[in-house]
Amino acid sequence: MKKELIFLGPPACGKGTQTNKLSEYLGFPHIDTGSLLRAEIAKATPDGLYAKSFIDKGQLVPPELVGQIIGNRLSEDDCKEGYVLDGYPRSLAQAELLEKINAGTDKEKADFKAIYFDIDTELLIERIVNRQSCPKCGEIYNKKFKPSKVENICDKCNVELKTRADDNEEIARARFDTYNKETAPLIEFYEQKGVLYKLDANGSIDDVWNRLLDIVNK
Ligand code: AMP
Repeated sequence: MKKELIFLGPPACGKGTQTNKLSEYLGFPHIDTGSLLRAEIAKATPDGLYAKSFIDKGQLVPPELVGQIIGNRLSEDDCKEGYVLDGYPRSLAQAELLEKINAGTDKEKADFKAIYFDIDTELLIERIVNRQSCPKCGEIYNKKFKPSKVENICDKCNVELKTRADDNEEIARARFDTYNKETAPLIEFYEQKGVLYKLDANGSIDDVWNRLLDIVNK
């Protein structure tokens, strides 16, 4: 059974940390549209520069660009057995495009799940402004809640940790507005289709991981 796993939840709900682990555990690629877009920005491609103007305002990058990136990525060979899709879809139009992409897989042979990280939003801005990640392995740290052993250095790769340009309070607030307006309606969209799995995303990384495994292995 091909596992098609997508994830919903507000910014900094813990999706990145858990989906990184999950992709390793299942052996499926971790496809994260935010990181794919940041890679284009780092290479200063025309697509990257265009995307940056939206990311810097906490808005969604226009659907044609993200749709093209995701369509190409999901058609690669390593997605044949399954994928862990983090950060896509983020609007109803994107969800509809994903249905078209997935239509190529026989429904009987696919296990599609939309996993919603349900979390108390109070602490999330504080999580965002303290967040760091490793540019090499993608591991996510937090200066306050999950510090690296040596300040600013990845525990695994020994390279300097980076802070995302959009992880400041002003842009974070705009990202929450965008999430509430454009992405939150997907919860009902998938619920009506009978494929929504609600995950209590409060608590420690290990607690959330165990709950996630229960859902994925259902
Ligand atoms: P993330 O790393 O998931 O927090 O995404 C960072 C930023 O990239 C978002 O605030 C958006 O501007 C952009 N982005 C990521 N995924 C998408 C998407 N599926 N559609 C549109 N914009 C996206």
